[in-house]
Amino acid sequence: MPLDAYELERYGRQLLAFSVESQERLKNSTVLIVGAGGLGSVISIYLTYMGIGKIVIVDDGIVELNNLNRQILYSDKDINEYKAVVACRKLKEFNPRVTIECYKEKFDENNGSKLVREADVVIDALDNWRTRLILNSLCIRHGKPLVHGGVEGWYGQVTTIIPRQTACLNCLFVGRKIVERRNIIPVIGFTPGIIGLIEVVETVKLLTQTGELLTNKLLLINLYTMEFRTVNIERNPKCPVCGGT
Ligand SMILES: [Zn+2]
Repeated sequence: MPLDAYELERYGRQLLAFSVESQERLKNSTVLIVGAGGLGSVISIYLTYMGIGKIVIVDDGIVELNNLNRQILYSDKDINEYKAVVACRKLKEFNPRVTIECYKEKFDENNGSKLVREADVVIDALDNWRTRLILNSLCIRHGKPLVHGGVEGWYGQVTTIIPRQTACLNCLFVGRKIVERRNIIPVIGFTPGIIGLIEVVETVKLLTQTGELLTNKLLLINLYTMEFRTVNIERNPKCPVCGGT
């Protein structure tokens, strides 16, 4: 579907940096965002404004007062409402040209498989490794690129996974025990903002096939010391999720 007059004007400034074809690729894409918390708020808002064709969001959470230092999709009047419902309503307002589909369900193997299969890019906006590894496996199984982001306190990390070509999330843990963090993770408001936006950049680059990606690289950010470090990571041939083929 080509861009119409409204879209050519609305996205005019970014068309000066992109090509019209790139913007059309965004328009013809579906992105799945798993999680509508601090990361998911920023990611979904920007992708909506930038003109992704269809955005699908999955989150079974309810807005709580202690979310409101960082989950910028929500405000006091949304407390006790499903995040997915509020997100859907607000995002549609931000850009009527974007199709928004939200599921107030916990992401798992059952509902996740279909959603991953229908996406062009999948975004990890989760806060726990258990669900993250389910998401990773589904992306490998269906051959879908996955943009991973995680935050804690002043720290965050991002990597991008191309199934069976680059290291997957599970490759990082082969032979190691996954230690899940304590139940309540400390998060400063700005940390998911910065990490979420880097995930947006990776997603747009993937969809438009431009620029360099964080593939086989883990970007580690320490906002306390303002240190941004990239470490090389490798696919593990013994990885039970992506290895062997
Ligand atoms: Zn792997």
